[in-house]
Amino acid sequence: MKISIKIKFSLFLAVLLLLVVFFLSVLVLQGIRSNQQNQYEQYLSQQAKLANTYFIQRILSEENKVPQTFLSVKGQEFAEQLEVISGLSLVLYNSQGERVSKKVTDTESDNIKKTLDYALNNKTAYLTEGNSLYYLAPLRIGNEQVGVIQFYYSLSGHQGFYNNIRQLFIYIGAGLFILSFFLGYIYYNSFATGIIKLGQTVDRIREGHYETTVLKRGDEIGKLSQGIHTMSGQISRTLQEMEAEQNKLKLAVDKLSLLDQQQKQFIGNVTHEFKTPLTSIKAYLDLLEMYPDDEQLLQTAITNMKSETGRLYEMVDKVLQLSALEKYDFELKFEKLAVKQAVELVLNSLKGRMDKFGISLDTELGEAYMEGDKDSLTIVLINLLDNAIKYNKANGSILVKTYVASHRVHIEISDTGIGIPEDLIHKVFEPFYTVDKNRARENGGAGLGLSLARKHAESMGGTVELLNTGNEGTSFRISFPAVMN
Ligand code: ADP
Repeated sequence: MKISIKIKFSLFLAVLLLLVVFFLSVLVLQGIRSNQQNQYEQYLSQQAKLANTYFIQRILSEENKVPQTFLSVKGQEFAEQLEVISGLSLVLYNSQGERVSKKVTDTESDNIKKTLDYALNNKTAYLTEGNSLYYLAPLRIGNEQVGVIQFYYSLSGHQGFYNNIRQLFIYIGAGLFILSFFLGYIYYNSFATGIIKLGQTVDRIREGHYETTVLKRGDEIGKLSQGIHTMSGQISRTLQEMEAEQNKLKLAVDKLSLLDQQQKQFIGNVTHEFKTPLTSIKAYLDLLEMYPDDEQLLQTAITNMKSETGRLYEMVDKVLQLSALEKYDFELKFEKLAVKQAVELVLNSLKGRMDKFGISLDTELGEAYMEGDKDSLTIVLINLLDNAIKYNKANGSILVKTYVASHRVHIEISDTGIGIPEDLIHKVFEPFYTVDKNRARENGGAGLGLSLARKHAESMGGTVELLNTGNEGTSFRISFPAVMN
């Protein structure tokens, strides 16, 4: 059974007080006992002296002055007179130890006899038996002992007083024990409640609940409660920080594995895409080896090998750019660029290509300036405009807008082309992804243009996003932080 701390403390206090009362009572009762002894010793010695004086007076007044004769003849009478004078019962003995007066009490016990023998040697002695005290003193004339006088003294009065005091101490002890237990219980209750509450708080912390309340007390328990509160807060914060670090680590690991996956996919794609034109070139070379005189085959082989080589060259170029951007963020030369002029320059260079496909161009070019690398911006523009031409419809059109809004330079390129299926919108920015492999191949594309454009834009703090797409065509928007003129 678990005894509560309140009971333990209260019991301790009560037992302590009981012990104090016990030792105090022992001391007081001892004092009373020795004081009573002094009192009756003095009293009886005085009575013995008086008896002796009276004995001498009686002998002197007698005709026969022999003490032994007086005692044997008039011992009884003399004893009665002494009893009246002293108020005590007594017995007289002669020098041989024979009783010369009436027996009033039991004087025959062995102990009294031994005491009498002692008193017959001219010494005072007394004996206590229960509440009775026998005081034996020599009867003398001058220095000569002629007998012994034995007083009987009742100790019941002294013993009654002693018993009353002892009883009083027992009552005081019991009362103090009960009172101190209850007072202690009430006093320690407030401490124990504090300690119990602290214990509950610690249990809750162990279960993972770190919000604690502080006990408002000015003592050590209050301090301890404040300490536990602070410690619990620190544990909670440390755990949160650890959890945040763990999450960060997990994100980093996830990102790394995604990058690893992307890299593997990229390498797989590169291998595949490079193999296709090389296979085609190898096939034509094999055919030419077999039929060296076939003029028509030679012409077809030259045309096809030229286009495949061109595609291969463009692919190698873009792949190199992509991986360079990935690794070194490239050696970009940042300068203030006039966006309107840069767009016009690229549009001019693509004029011939637009004419070839019968595509008309509309522009709404506002003045805009940005901080960036001239070549990178050109690459972004060329790729997006090239797509607007490649994936346009016959006699379609392209609209190019430049403007500044919310401190950003925006370049919008909209075409009236074939559009991109809704469910593939998020994929077109992945390297090597093409919606229609054949059409892309016909146009010399390998699915690298948009990813390259986005990477270049991002290296200058910009973005490339698909605004909308559908049967009516597609719109892309390029944005960069604007620089005020
Ligand atoms: P590619 O070199 O094949 O053009 P891109 O990365 O530039 O590669 O484009 C990826 C794919 O997105 C293209 O194959 C094409 O299917 C689609 N696409 C890109 N731009 C347009 C556009 N303006 N209109 C329709 N489809 C587009």
